[in-house]
Amino acid sequence: MRSKTKQKMAKKEAKKLEYFTDWKYAPSPEATDHIRLQKQYELFINGKFVKPNSGKYFDTINPATEEKISSIAEANDKDVDTAVKAARGAYDKTWSKMPAKERAKYIYRIARLIQERARELSVIETMDGGKSIRESRDIDVPLAANHFFYYAGWADKLEYAFPNRHPKSLGVAGQVIPWNFPLLMAAWKIAPALATGNTVVLKPAETTSLTALKLAEIIQESGLPDGVVNIITGHGPVGASMVNHKDINKIAFTGSTNVGKWIQKAIAGTDKKLTLELGGKAANIIFEDAPINQAVEGIVNGIFFNQGHVCCAGSRLFVQESVADEVIRKLKDRLETLIVGDPLDKNTDIGAINSKMQLNKINEYLKIGVNDGAEMYQSSCSIPKKGFFVRPTLFLNTSQSHRISQEEIFGPVLAVQTFRTIEEVIEKANNIPYGLSAGVWTDKGSRIFNMTSKLRAGVVWANTYNKFDPTSPFGGYKESGFGREGGLHGLMPYLKF
Ligand code: ADP
Repeated sequence: MRSKTKQKMAKKEAKKLEYFTDWKYAPSPEATDHIRLQKQYELFINGKFVKPNSGKYFDTINPATEEKISSIAEANDKDVDTAVKAARGAYDKTWSKMPAKERAKYIYRIARLIQERARELSVIETMDGGKSIRESRDIDVPLAANHFFYYAGWADKLEYAFPNRHPKSLGVAGQVIPWNFPLLMAAWKIAPALATGNTVVLKPAETTSLTALKLAEIIQESGLPDGVVNIITGHGPVGASMVNHKDINKIAFTGSTNVGKWIQKAIAGTDKKLTLELGGKAANIIFEDAPINQAVEGIVNGIFFNQGHVCCAGSRLFVQESVADEVIRKLKDRLETLIVGDPLDKNTDIGAINSKMQLNKINEYLKIGVNDGAEMYQSSCSIPKKGFFVRPTLFLNTSQSHRISQEEIFGPVLAVQTFRTIEEVIEKANNIPYGLSAGVWTDKGSRIFNMTSKLRAGVVWANTYNKFDPTSPFGGYKESGFGREGGLHGLMPYLKF
C-alpha cells in the first residue's frame, strides 16, 4: 500500500517536471520598426560623415538571419591620416585649451543622449552582433552611458585624482575595439580619453560597426567640437595603419592575443603609450560549502548567457570533488532549460554567434575536445536552421593538458574539472597563459581573501560573476594584456605626469 502511494507520487512529480520542461514561451521579439538604418555608412571624420578614399564598402550582416543590414565604408591609409590630422587639429586648437569643466559637459551630454536612444541602440547592437536583446538592453547600453557619466565627473578633478602630480593629456589616442561589446568598448575607450583631455580616432570591429556609427551621430548631436572624436571603419589593416601612424600618442587595443602581440612589436622603440586587453580563460571555482544553486546560476551566467563572447567568460569550471555530482547534475538540468534562438526575443538566453568564422572556430574546438578524449554534453534544444548558432556545451572529464582547457574558445563551451584541495585548484587555475578574471564560490570570507591574493587574474569575483561597474578597474595579467580600464586607474593610461 505504502509503495503504491509512493509510485503514485513519483508519477505525479514526473508529470509536473514534464510540464515545466515542455512548457514553451510564446515568442516575444523586440520591435524593429522604429529602427532607422541607412543603406550605406560613411566614415566619421572631423565632425562629418565622409566617403572613404578607397571608394570601397563592405557588408555588415545580421548573424541570426545571415541577411545584409547595411554597407560600411572601408578606410585606407589616407583616411587614417585624415582622421589623425583632424584629431590633432582639434587637440591643438580646441580640446586641450578648453577648461576641463566645459569638456565635462560634452561628455555628460553624450551619456544623456545614449540614455535617450537606449532602445534603438540595444536593438541595433543585437541585430548587428547577434547577442541577446536582454544582454544589450540590460548590460551593454546602460553601462556605456554610465561610463560617460562616470568619466564626465573626473574631467575637472584630475588634480584630486593624482594630487601633486600635475597630470597632462597625451594628445591623440588611437583606439581599436572588438566585436563582443561594440558600443560598450567604444565607451570604455572614448570616455576616459576625453575626460583626460585627449582627442580620439576609434576603429570598431568589422562585423559590428553600426553602434559605433550611431555613437558618431550622437557625438555630432552633442555638439562636441569637430575632430575631437573620429570614427573610422574597416578591417584589420585599418587598425594596423593606426598603430603605425607617426602622429598618434597612445594606442588602446582590445582584441585577440595574437594581434596584441603584433601591436606591441610594431610600436616597440616609439614613444607611443599602450594598453592591451586581450584574451582570457577564466576559472570559476566552486567549493563544497558554496550555495550550490546560486553557484550553478553564476556559472551559467558566466559562460552561456553571453554566447561565451566575453574575454572574461568563466570558460573553465573547477568543482570540489565532494559536490561534483550534484553540481554537474544541476548544470545539465539548467542547460536543458536555456533558450537558444532569435536574439531579438526577450526570452532568449543564448543568441547568435557573431560570425560564420567564429562559429567555425567553436565547432572546430568541439571536435578537438572530443578527439582529445573529453566527454561532451550538449543541451538537446533545437537551434534555428538559418544563422550562426551553437548549443550550450559542457566538456566533462577534462584535464589540464586538453586544448579546450587551455585555449580561448569564445563560445558557449564550458570545460569542467574537479579538485580536492585549495593548493591544487590554485595551481590548476593559474596554469594557463592568460590571467584576466576568475570566480570563487564559497561560504567563507577568509577563503575568498586567500584565493583572491593567489589567483593571477586581474578581476576575481566572489559568489557572483561578470559584474561590471564604471568605478572598478578591469584588465589582465600575463597574455591577457596590461593596463587598466575603468575607475580611477582607467585615467592613468591617458595621462603623463
Ligand atoms: P577577434 O579575433 O576577436 O576578432 P581581433 O584581434 O582580430 O580579434 O580584432 C579585434 C580588433 O582588432 C578589430 O577591430 C580588428 O579589425 C582589429 N585588428 C585586426 N588585426 C589588426 C592589426 N594587425 N592591427 C590592428 N588592429 C587589428
